[in-house]
Amino acid sequence: MEQPLVKNAFDVLEVRKDFPILSELPYGKPLVYFDNAATSQKPQVVIDALVNYYTHYNANVHRGVHFLSQKASDAFDGVREKVRGFINAASEREIIFVRGTTEGVNLVAATYGRKNIQQGDTILVSAMEHHSNIVPWQLLCEEKGARLNVIPMNDRGELVLDTLDELLNDNCKFVSITHTANSLGTINPLETVIAKAHERNIPVLVDGAQAVAHEYVDVQALDCDFFVFSAHKMLGPTGIGAVYGKLHLLEDMPPYHGGGEMIKSVSFKGTTWNDVPYKFEAGTPNIADVIAMGAAIDYWNSIDRVGAHEQEIELLNYCTSLLADIPAVRIIGTAKNKAAVISFVVDKVNAMDIGMFLDTKGIAVRTGQHCAEPVMDWFGIPGTIRASFMFYNTKEEIDFFIEQLKKAIQLLAV
Ligand code: PMP
Repeated sequence: MEQPLVKNAFDVLEVRKDFPILSELPYGKPLVYFDNAATSQKPQVVIDALVNYYTHYNANVHRGVHFLSQKASDAFDGVREKVRGFINAASEREIIFVRGTTEGVNLVAATYGRKNIQQGDTILVSAMEHHSNIVPWQLLCEEKGARLNVIPMNDRGELVLDTLDELLNDNCKFVSITHTANSLGTINPLETVIAKAHERNIPVLVDGAQAVAHEYVDVQALDCDFFVFSAHKMLGPTGIGAVYGKLHLLEDMPPYHGGGEMIKSVSFKGTTWNDVPYKFEAGTPNIADVIAMGAAIDYWNSIDRVGAHEQEIELLNYCTSLLADIPAVRIIGTAKNKAAVISFVVDKVNAMDIGMFLDTKGIAVRTGQHCAEPVMDWFGIPGTIRASFMFYNTKEEIDFFIEQLKKAIQLLAV
C-alpha cells in the first residue's frame, strides 16, 4: 500500500533550543540576531565539541603514538570525509583545511595563480564580490602584470551576462565569482558562467561563503574547479574553513606555505612535498576548530534542511513585503533569485544611526559597506542596513524589527 507523504514540519521553536545564545538578553532585551551573513550562531553540539576536545583529548595530531594523539588524529581526520560529503566532492583528498574563505582565495591565487597567470592575462570577477575575492587577485595582477576584469550587474543587483563571451576571451585565464552576494543576497547563475568558461578551458573558483549554509552545494554538479568557504557562516567555529579543488589541479599546484606536515622529506640539498591535500597544510592545524566544524556538519545532517530552507525563504519574503510598505525604505538588491539577506537604505537617515537605535532594542543588524565597497559605489550609496536571516529566526522577530525600524525612522529622519 502506498504510504501517505508526510512532510516533516520545521519546528523553529524546537530548533532554537539548540542555540544557547538565542536566550541571551542584551540590555535586558531578548536577542534578535539578524547578522547571520556576518557569522552564524553555534548550536550547543558545536560548542560541546570544542570544550570536549580541550577537556578530554587535547594533543597534536599525526605525531604521537600515545592515546590522546591518536584520539585527536582520528577525530581530526574524520572531518575531511564529512566536509567531502557536505559539498559532494569526489574525494576527500580534494579538501584542504584553511582559516576560511579569505585564506582559501589567497591560497588559490598564490599557488594556481602564481604558476599559471602571466603578463597580459586577465582574471575575471563579478561586480558584486566581497573584498576577499577582489584583493587577492589584484595582488596577483600587480605581481604578474595581469589585469582584473569585471562582469557587470544591473540595478536589481543581478549579473549582466551579455558581455560574458567577450570577457572570456583568449587573454582570460581564470574566473573567480561569488555564489551568493553577501551585500545584496543575489544568487548567481553559476551554471551558465562555469559552462561558458569551461568551453574555453578557463577554470572557475566559486566563493561559497554565503552559500554553504543556505543552499545545497554539490561541487560535482556545479563542476566548479575550486570552491572555498568558512565554517563560521555555517554554524561552525571561526578560524576554519576549506578549499575544494579538483584533484588534477591540486596535484599540479605548488605548495602554499612551507613547514612541517607539508613535506615528504627535508634535507639541505632539497625537499620533497607531501601528497595532496597535506602539501597545502603546513604546520599544526587548527585541530579543535576542524573537529567542531565536523560537529556543525553532523548538526546540518540531523535537521530537516528542506524545512530550514523554506523557513528562510518565508522570512525573506515576509520581511521584504513589510519593508516595501515603508515609504522611506529602499531595498538594495532585488534580484529574482535571492538568499535571505535584505540590504536597504532609509531616506534622510544614516544607516549607522538606525543600526545603533535597533541595537538598543536588542536587534543585531549590520550597517556599512559589508566589505563590498565596489557594490556600494555602483549604487552610489555609502552603505546599507543589512538584515540577514538563518532558519532559527522567526516572523515574530521580524514583526518586532519592523516596529522598531518604524520608530527609528520617525525619531531620526531629518
Ligand atoms: N565572501 C563572501 C561572499 C563573504 O560573505 C565573506 C564574509 N563576509 C567572505 C568572502 C570572507 O569570509 P571570511 O571572513 O570568513 O574569510
